Amino acid sequence: MILGLDYTILSLIIIAFLLPFYIYRKRVFKFYYDKNDNAYFLKDLQIYLKNTHPKINFDFVKIDSIYKSNPPSIAKLLVLENVAIQFINFGYVKRTQKAVSKDILWGSYEKESNPKNSTANNLLRRKEIVLRRDNYRCNRCAKPIKLDTSMLLLIKDIDTGGTYHFENLSVLCIDCNKIIHSQTPERLIKDLNIFYHLKKKYLK
Ligand SMILES: [Zn+2]
Repeated sequence: MILGLDYTILSLIIIAFLLPFYIYRKRVFKFYYDKNDNAYFLKDLQIYLKNTHPKINFDFVKIDSIYKSNPPSIAKLLVLENVAIQFINFGYVKRTQKAVSKDILWGSYEKESNPKNSTANNLLRRKEIVLRRDNYRCNRCAKPIKLDTSMLLLIKDIDTGGTYHFENLSVLCIDCNKIIHSQTPERLIKDLNIFYHLKKKYLK
């Protein structure tokens, strides 16, 4: 079948008419794309926080309302600040931890559990064992951590009679360690890794 010349011309005119809509679709249908981008941002943030800090129950009703009631130019930043504030304010109580299997204790374990007889090597050895026992997760927020991105936590402080027995030890991520040892945690926002990473991920 051979198409007539007028049919071909008409097709080209239609394509020429529709092409700009395709090329500039993000501008032409800005409202639609913005709406999708907004929904995507909040959904992605929720998934990200669930994966990185699973123990913290972020209040997404609050986050949603901050996002919707502020001008688009600052809404994302205000949301991220609120996430950091919620992270700081999360209530945390230190609890006695699980004992480890007696098979992995060593000859001088009891002696070195007394802070007076401990050494840096002893503490490093204990930290490695605690990390394994706690599945490499922060005790406060459950963020995945490693030996060099975590701090050993004493459930009961040395000043109040705490020892280095495994029941008195856990591990925290760098942020949670800062928060629980700060007199004014609300001032920490700008120093927290969580805030830094969220800004890097969501603000361009
Ligand atoms: Zn943490």
